[in-house]
Amino acid sequence: METFDHRHIWHPYSRVAPSTPVFKVVRAEGVYLTLDDGSKLIDGMSSWWAAIHGYNHPRLNDALNQQTQDMAHVMFGGLTHEPAIGLAERLIRLTAEPLDTVFFSDSGSVAVEVAMKMAIQFQAARGKPKQQRFISLRRGYHGDTTGAMSISDPENGMHQLFAETLTQQFYADAPMCSPEQEWDDQDSASLQRLLEQHHQEVAAVILEPLVQGAGGMRFYHPGYLQAARQLCDQYDVLLIFDEIATGFGRTGSLFAYEQAEVVPDILCLGKALTGGYMTLAATLATREVAETIAAGEPGIFMHGPTFMANPLACSVACASIDLLLETPWQERVLSIEAQLREELLPCLQLGNVADVRVKGAIGVVELTQPVDMQAMPEAFVQRGVWIRPFNRLVYLMPPFIIEPEQLTQLTTAIKETLTLFDHS
Ligand code: PMP
Repeated sequence: METFDHRHIWHPYSRVAPSTPVFKVVRAEGVYLTLDDGSKLIDGMSSWWAAIHGYNHPRLNDALNQQTQDMAHVMFGGLTHEPAIGLAERLIRLTAEPLDTVFFSDSGSVAVEVAMKMAIQFQAARGKPKQQRFISLRRGYHGDTTGAMSISDPENGMHQLFAETLTQQFYADAPMCSPEQEWDDQDSASLQRLLEQHHQEVAAVILEPLVQGAGGMRFYHPGYLQAARQLCDQYDVLLIFDEIATGFGRTGSLFAYEQAEVVPDILCLGKALTGGYMTLAATLATREVAETIAAGEPGIFMHGPTFMANPLACSVACASIDLLLETPWQERVLSIEAQLREELLPCLQLGNVADVRVKGAIGVVELTQPVDMQAMPEAFVQRGVWIRPFNRLVYLMPPFIIEPEQLTQLTTAIKETLTLFDHS
C-alpha cells in the first residue's frame, strides 16, 4: 500500500514513491528504536554517527527543557548568549591549542562551506586572491552542498551529474597505507605532486583524518596526516580537517587528529556535537586565520546563518560534551572495538565478503557486490536491529552506551543476514 510518506516526502538519497521501505519510528530510548507496530530495534547506526549517548537521555532532555524556558532562539547578529559562550569555551578547551575561534552553523555541510570560505578569505587577506581552489582526497566525503560536493570524491561524489556547476578541484589519490602497516612515504606522493604543481592556486588541503567515512568507510595511517601537515607548511597552504564524523570519541581518541599528533588550521565538527539531538556544527580556526581575515578586505568573514548558534542546540551540545567527559567513554569505545573485531572477523569466511575492518566504535564489512537495498534492511529489521548498509558496505557505529549483549545481537544479525544473502 502506498503511504502518504511514500508519495510526498523525500528521504536521504531517495526519490518520491521509492521502491525501498521506510520504517516509522514512534519512540527512541537508550539504544532502542520503537516502530509503530511495537517492535523494538537495537540501533547500530547512532543515527549516522551522532547519537553517541543513545536516545532520550535524561541529562540531554533536561538541558533542552531548561533552555526552552529561557529562550529557544535569538538572532546571533549583534546578540550573544551563555549557551554559545559555554559551548565555544568547551570546544576551545578540548581541541588543540592553536584552535582558538569558533564559527557555529547548522549542519556539517555548512561547516565545511564555512571552512572553505575562511581559507579563501585568509589567502585573499594575505594578498593571494588567486588561491581559491582546494586539494582533497579521492574516496573522501564532505557533504551535499555545492562546495562540499566539489571536494568530495569525483566519482562517487556525483560530479558527473553536476559537472557544469561544480568547481573542479584537485584530487589526491586516496591513502592506501592501512593503520596496521608500516608508514610508507609513497602514500603521500600524489598529494605532494599536486601541491608542487598547483600551490599557487590552492587555498587549503581538506581531508577526513584517519577515517574516510561516507565515501567508503576506509581507515588509513596517521603518517598521512603528518605528511599532509608538513607539505601544507612547505607549500604555505592551510590544512583543514573535517572531523564531522570522527569527532567526539568515535575512533578511540576525542578527535582523530590526536592519534597523529598533528593540528589543522581549521577544524570542522558536527554530528555527535549535540549527542545527536539537534542539528548544529562548528568550524574552529586558529587565531592566525581569524586575525588575518580581520586585517584584510573587507575585514569581516562573509557568512552568517539565520539560526547561527541556536541556543537549544548549543545547550544540548554543552550537556552532551559534559556527559561524555564524565563517562569512561574511551574504555567503552575500546571495548566496543575489541568486541567488533572478535565478532565481525568471522564474516571473512563468507563468499560475499571482501574485507572486514574495525577502528574504534566503527565496524565495517565490505561485500563483493552492492547490497540489495530492497531486501537487506528488511532482513535486519526482522532480526530486531537497525543497520543501514550502503553500496557494498554493511557497517556498525553504535551508541557508546551499548551493552555487550546488545552489540552481539547486532553482529549476529550481520552474520546471519550475510549468510542468507551469500549466493557465491
Ligand atoms: N563531512 C563528513 C566527514 C561527513 O561524514 C558528513 C555527513 N555524513 C558531512 C561532512 C556532512 O554533514 P551533514 O550531513 O550534517 O551536512
